[in-house]
Amino acid sequence: LVGIMGASLALSACGGSSDGSDGGGSKDKAGKIGVILPDTKSSVRWESADRPALEKAFKAAGVKYDIQNAEGDADKMATIADGMITDGVTVLAIVNLDSDSGAAIEAKAAKQGVKTIDYDRLTLGGSADVYISYDNSKVGALQGEGLAKCLGDKPANIIYLNGSPTDNNATLFSQGAHSVLDKISNYKNVAEQAVPDWDNDKAVTIFEQLYTRVDGKVDGVYAANDGLAGGVISILKKNGQNGKVPVTGQDATVEGLQNILTGDQCMTIQKSATGQAGALAKAAIAMAKGDKPETTGTVKDDTGKRDVPAILLDPVAIDKSNVKAVIDAGDMKASDLCTGA
Ligand code: BGC
Repeated sequence: LVGIMGASLALSACGGSSDGSDGGGSKDKAGKIGVILPDTKSSVRWESADRPALEKAFKAAGVKYDIQNAEGDADKMATIADGMITDGVTVLAIVNLDSDSGAAIEAKAAKQGVKTIDYDRLTLGGSADVYISYDNSKVGALQGEGLAKCLGDKPANIIYLNGSPTDNNATLFSQGAHSVLDKISNYKNVAEQAVPDWDNDKAVTIFEQLYTRVDGKVDGVYAANDGLAGGVISILKKNGQNGKVPVTGQDATVEGLQNILTGDQCMTIQKSATGQAGALAKAAIAMAKGDKPETTGTVKDDTGKRDVPAILLDPVAIDKSNVKAVIDAGDMKASDLCTGA
C-alpha cells in the first residue's frame, strides 16, 4: 500500500478487486481481425492495457481475433502481417514502427483485399481505411498545461525529452506542448532531444547527458510518456532532485500513477485503452461486414496527400487530484496501484 499515501485516491479500494463488465455484443459474422502491437520497450501500455482491452472488446463482440507484438522489429511486423493475411484476417490493424514499413504492410494487405486500420499512430503515406487514436495535439497541449501548472509562472529552465522521431504522434505531442510552454516568457528551453524508438532505457542515458550538459540547472522536464518520465525521475533521484523538478508523462501506467502519487511526477495523460480498443473493435467489425465505420472527422496526411477518415477520442489530464478517473474508466483496478510500491 506504500506509495499512495497522501493521495486523494480512495485507499479503501486497495485490496479489493473489480473488473468492469461489459454487456454482450453482436454475434454477427465478422471474419477474423488481426492486430499488430509495436513493441514492449516504448511503453508498457501495449501489453498491459491495449492487449487486455482489445481481447475483452473482441470477446464481447463475439469475433475471432489474433493479437501479436512485433517486438520493435519492422521486419517482424511485416512477417506477422503476411502470416495473418495468409491465415485469412479480413481486417488488419497495425501500430506502425515507422511510416514506411507501415505503408508497405498496408499496401500489401490492400492488394489482397484486406482492409487496414492505423491504430494509435498515423502511417504517413499509408493507405489505412481508417485511423483510430486520441487527439494527439491535444495530448501535447495538456502535457504543456500540466507542466505549467506544476511550475507556476516563476522563471524556469525546461528540458524536453521527446518520443521517437519515426512516430508521427511524437511530433504532435511535442508541438502541442511547445504551443503552450513557448508562450510563457519566463520559461526557457535549455535542452531538447528525441528518444529513438521511445526506448525507455535509452531515455535514462540521454537525459543524464542533457542534465549534465545544463549543469543540473533544470526546473521542469517535458517527458513525452510515463516510460521516459521514469528514466528522467531515476536520474533526478540520483541527484536528490526528484519531487523538486516536475516531470510530465503519458499513458497513465501503473509506474506513472505511482510516481504521481509519491510526488515525483507532475502529471500523466489518460487515453483509456478500454475506449480505444472498443472503438477499434466496433470499426473493424463494421469494415469486415463491408460497411464504412462511423468516424469523427478526418486527419491530414501530408505525405500521402490525403485526408484519412478518423476516429479521434478525447484524452484526459491526470494529476494527484484525479487519479481515480483512470480506475473509473475501467483501465485499472485501484489495487493495481498498491502492488510493487
Ligand atoms: C503512443 C503513446 C506511447 C508511445 C510509445 C505513441 O505512439 O501514442 O501512448 O506511449 O507511442 O509506445
